[in-house]
Amino acid sequence: METESKYRSTGVLLEAPKIVKSADRSTDVYEIKDGVVTRFSLSDYSLPKHLIGRVAVGPGAGDADGRAVLGTMAELADRIAPWLTVIVAPKIYRVDSNVNDFGVTRASYDIDGATYKAVGGLAPCDGNIILVAETNPSSMLTALAHEIMHRLLRGHLSQAALTVIGEAVATGVEMPGTYYGSAEERACRLFESWCAAQIEGMPSAIWYSGRLCVAQIFEEIWTGQLADAEILAGNTPRQAELIARRGLRVCRPVPGVLDRLRSGWNRISERHGRAQAA
Ligand SMILES: [Zn+2]
Repeated sequence: METESKYRSTGVLLEAPKIVKSADRSTDVYEIKDGVVTRFSLSDYSLPKHLIGRVAVGPGAGDADGRAVLGTMAELADRIAPWLTVIVAPKIYRVDSNVNDFGVTRASYDIDGATYKAVGGLAPCDGNIILVAETNPSSMLTALAHEIMHRLLRGHLSQAALTVIGEAVATGVEMPGTYYGSAEERACRLFESWCAAQIEGMPSAIWYSGRLCVAQIFEEIWTGQLADAEILAGNTPRQAELIARRGLRVCRPVPGVLDRLRSGWNRISERHGRAQAA
């Protein structure tokens, strides 16, 4: 189900050296799942087992305007990657086991004797996404899109789509550090920027030239077509439940049909393959 993309994972969060508990946990945390937002107290919140010690959530501001877009975030997450669970916490920190592994300088914090650095969002490989409750509602939506893109790049995009996106970000302006300059991070920022334009009302300008392009890939993600295709193809958890909830039409799996059901991806990939071969 989970396949490696060609992008080097920024992957952290796989070890659990130490349990972290912050003393003051007074602010609410939200869970977004199946298009529903559930609110609970930070004191009730426990991280998934494999994240304990790598990530800590702590009390923080969490602006009211930001919280007001939680419903919109739930709709977005449910449309483009309904198998993921999104946690919105006031502050999140990532253990600073290697100062240089992000290739950037960030302020450090001591939490229960371990050194952590504040981060804006995480996309660990367990189906969860963890986001900071930003002060800016627009940033919360685009940060959600960014973190979801990390997950899609690591297992849900066709090789042709990865190639097109990879070629695009390779032409971008040079960025400092292994983190900001990585192909995966650049791809996620590109999708985030594209989503920001849609969120503000940019009209669709897609025209199909017959050759796969970045905007077409992003459009298929944004509209939920990729999600539907991935669910039907059995590339997500909870397939039967999601098929029923989204009202997807399931055809009898005769040879070749399931491939064609994967939305436009396979057709697009084939077209792209032929174009490349030519
Ligand atoms: Zn990122």
